[in-house]
Amino acid sequence: MKKRNSRFPASRMLIDDLVAASRILARHEVLDAYGHISARSDRRPGCFVMSRSLAPALVTAADLMALDADSEPLPGDARKAFIERYIHGEIYRSRPEVMAIVHSHSASVIPFGVTRSRLRPIYHMGAFLWSGTPVFEIRKHKLDNDLLVRDRGLGKALAGSLGACNCVLMRGHGMTVVGDGVPEAVYRAIYTEMNARLQLQANLLEGPIEFLSDEEGRRSTAANRGTLERPWELWKKQVLGRK
Ligand SMILES: [Zn+2]
Repeated sequence: MKKRNSRFPASRMLIDDLVAASRILARHEVLDAYGHISARSDRRPGCFVMSRSLAPALVTAADLMALDADSEPLPGDARKAFIERYIHGEIYRSRPEVMAIVHSHSASVIPFGVTRSRLRPIYHMGAFLWSGTPVFEIRKHKLDNDLLVRDRGLGKALAGSLGACNCVLMRGHGMTVVGDGVPEAVYRAIYTEMNARLQLQANLLEGPIEFLSDEEGRRSTAANRGTLERPWELWKKQVLGRK
């Protein structure tokens, strides 16, 4: 593996976590050839780190690049960055407590972005969805759009739709989740997909569906934070064994 410039604005641990996270999300089919994860830099304020434009399963440490607060690569890095990097930069700008972000085209989530059915926490693993799952309608901001968040203006609009929530759906496109670190963002991306799948299945049975109450959602979100290390350790081991 190519040795990184020692001035790269991320610790070894953060770099390793981002590489593992990319592979974990690919393995769980939350990301395929598309989608990405980023983390706020732990070395340089105002910067964040994500892979160059590449399928997540292929990401290595050498593929990570640092982006500034406007989501532009730092001077001297001419590699191709993801078009939708503005999703990340504008959420970091509006949500100072957010440390990591996943954007995916998670298949089971798509129906909830294009219908009147709201994605809601159906079990404790999806408890973090209690804060709401607003839908970002790109047409409201750009009529002649191609669905992609391809500039700062659209990134800012998406961050506005997310508000103080943990997850925002994107009509006809996918979703974006935030976390207090890489493990939590990964956890939330995986369980948003699973919650969506279960909610679609429950809809086939006799209803109405009994969702978590807001209070249960809040309590369960806090409880899950305390056990995050367990899945994180397992998921890392599963992908690093295939290096
Ligand atoms: Zn996308």
